[in-house]
Amino acid sequence: METNSHMQNKKQIIDLLTTTPAQELFNEADKVRQENVGDEVHLRGLIEFSNICRNDCLYCGLRRSNSSVKRYHMADDEVISTARQAADIGFKTIVLQSGEDLYYTSLRLCHIIEAIKKFDVALTLSIGERSESDYKDFRNAGADRFLMRIETTDKELYHRLNPGMNWQHRYECLMIIKGLGYELGSGIMVGLPGQTIESIADDLLFLQDIAVDMAGIGPFIPHPATPLAKEAGGTLEMALRTMAVMRLLLPDINIPATTAMESLHPQGRIMALQAGANVIMPNVTDGEYRQLYELYPGKPLANDTPAHTQNIIAQKIHAIGRTIGHGQGGHHVEITMQ
Ligand code: SAM
Ligand code: SF4
Repeated sequence: METNSHMQNKKQIIDLLTTTPAQELFNEADKVRQENVGDEVHLRGLIEFSNICRNDCLYCGLRRSNSSVKRYHMADDEVISTARQAADIGFKTIVLQSGEDLYYTSLRLCHIIEAIKKFDVALTLSIGERSESDYKDFRNAGADRFLMRIETTDKELYHRLNPGMNWQHRYECLMIIKGLGYELGSGIMVGLPGQTIESIADDLLFLQDIAVDMAGIGPFIPHPATPLAKEAGGTLEMALRTMAVMRLLLPDINIPATTAMESLHPQGRIMALQAGANVIMPNVTDGEYRQLYELYPGKPLANDTPAHTQNIIAQKIHAIGRTIGHGQGGHHVEITMQ
């Protein structure tokens, strides 16, 4: 099988997504992962600090038109203490994720970022589209990485699924983020209604083209309280195939085994770790908030505590002969080979 630099054309990608036997593709991606980023699995502690969102993405359970959601935003101190607990139990990266909630002004978020950076962790933001000056402020306050999926490169599909949003603007945000020196994470959903295999191949080439440091690829899972409730959703196999091809295209980036994969199959994230992934983002949000942050149904361990979640995931990682990353696990850091 041809890999990375040999596999530049769309037709080859489409073949890998459709006709190559799945296990053959997964084994190849696993090998490329092993050779390029080693056996360490980096854990990122995910804090879902607000489920309030000004947007109305048709696929998302947090969309503003979903009036059945009990909304919350965590107080600044609560976000900071959750991050401290995560750092105390060993997380070296904290990811702050939310809807697009402008309650968190630049000033408020910078205060949170500065406090969390004192815990000697890498900090990733996943808070959607903001102004260039906000992105600059967050970076100056110490944010290291930014994660924002492009979702799809099919602009017509994007505009149908994201009313009031603009694909070009999202793309420009990604370019600003990259220009400010953040490690850039992006990605897509697989199985969106109307999405074609060709457009998934374009998405992969796009992510290669903008040279992401991290690529999050997950299946679309219909949420019952959204306009897409009756859609079929993505399959685990197609999401894994897409992720595996991403590994072949960008051999040394960070690729998470996404939570949505585990929602489709109890071993979904472990399967992903054996098909090209090298990162897991366990949820470290505590208490009731965990259940209220429902992008899609079937979120794993929705009632669990951070320490127990971490334990279960660590056991699964060790069971497949992998180790937990010791450092912050950024892109382009030296790897420890076994
Ligand atoms: N609001 C920010 C944004 O949209 O970039 C960050 C949080 S948003 C909830 C994180 C990601 O969740 C989105 O980029 C999208 O890919 C994913 N997501 C939303 N609804 C989903 C669904 N029904 N199935 C799978 N993934 C979903
Ligand atoms: Fe808001 Fe993000 Fe959900 Fe869209 S995907 S509704 S921006 S939280």
